[in-house]
This record gives sequence, structure tokens and C-alpha cells, in this order.
Amino acid sequence: MSQKITSYPGHEITPEEVKEQKYLDVVYKFEPKYSWAAGVAISHFLAELKEGRIVARKCTNCERILVPPRMYCEKCFRPTDEWITIKDTGTVNTYSISHVGTDAMRLKKPILVAVVDIDGASPGMGILHNLGEVEPSKIKVGMKVKAVWKPSSERQGSILDIRYFKPVGDS
Ligand SMILES: [Zn+2]
Repeated sequence: MSQKITSYPGHEITPEEVKEQKYLDVVYKFEPKYSWAAGVAISHFLAELKEGRIVARKCTNCERILVPPRMYCEKCFRPTDEWITIKDTGTVNTYSISHVGTDAMRLKKPILVAVVDIDGASPGMGILHNLGEVEPSKIKVGMKVKAVWKPSSERQGSILDIRYFKPVGDS
């Protein structure tokens, strides 16, 4: 039979006891150091972003051009065949206007996030990124966009070497 515990031995540490330093207090600044292997496909993809190019992998069996690139075609169950440089323009496949930040606080200016199908890649091959230089109310599925790159001196082989995608033309 279980018995409900109503009182525990000892007592809680009071704020006074903390002030009087009656208890040992250890402050430790945690500095995690780790490395993460991006893999063959994404490593090359990131290295090319640093050069201002978007690259994809082609599967010559199904003729699909995959971006983000992968070394294996999940449709054909075989390795992909070649690297292809595709454009830095594309089409908004889907988007989200977020008024809430990562800390769950309401934002003054919403974050505009979209999946951009990149021109030159197969349909439905998209990169998740930010939209910029656009009013939220003007964003549409099917809108043509173009990458806005950081200057080459600031690029570091990151997806953020592209600042955001901005609308082009009058789509
Ligand atoms: Zn394939």
C-alpha cells in the first residue's frame, strides 16, 4: 500500500542562508565544443554557396535534379551521377508569415519564411529560406524570387550566405 508523504526531512534553503553563503555555490560556464560533418553532398553545396552558386545533384536514371543535393536518389535507390550549377532564382512554393519569434514573444516585424523551388531543379525541389524586400500582404504562392547574396568577403559557406530571396518582375 502506498503512503502519501506529507513532510520531508530537513528544510528548504532560505534566501538568508544563501546570502550568508552557508551553502557551496558553484558557477560553471559551459562551453560546448563540437564539430558536425555535413556529408559529401551538403559540404559541396555549402562550399559553392560561398562562391555565390547553388549546386544540385542529377540522377541520370530518373532525370531529376535534386536540391538540396544528395548523393543518393531515394526514388531510384541508386547513387546520383553529377553536379549541376542551377540558378539563384526560383518560385515561392509555400510560405509563412510568422508574428511570433523563437522566444515565443510577439514580433514587431514578422519573419517571412518560404520554400523556394529553385529554377533549374526538378519541380518541388526547394530551399527553405527567408523572404525580404516584400510586404507580407504581397507574398503569393507562385511568386518569382531571386537570391540576395552577402558580399563575397562575408560569405562563410552557410545557407545564410544568401541573405534572403526577394521578388523579381511583376509576378
Ligand atoms: Zn533517380
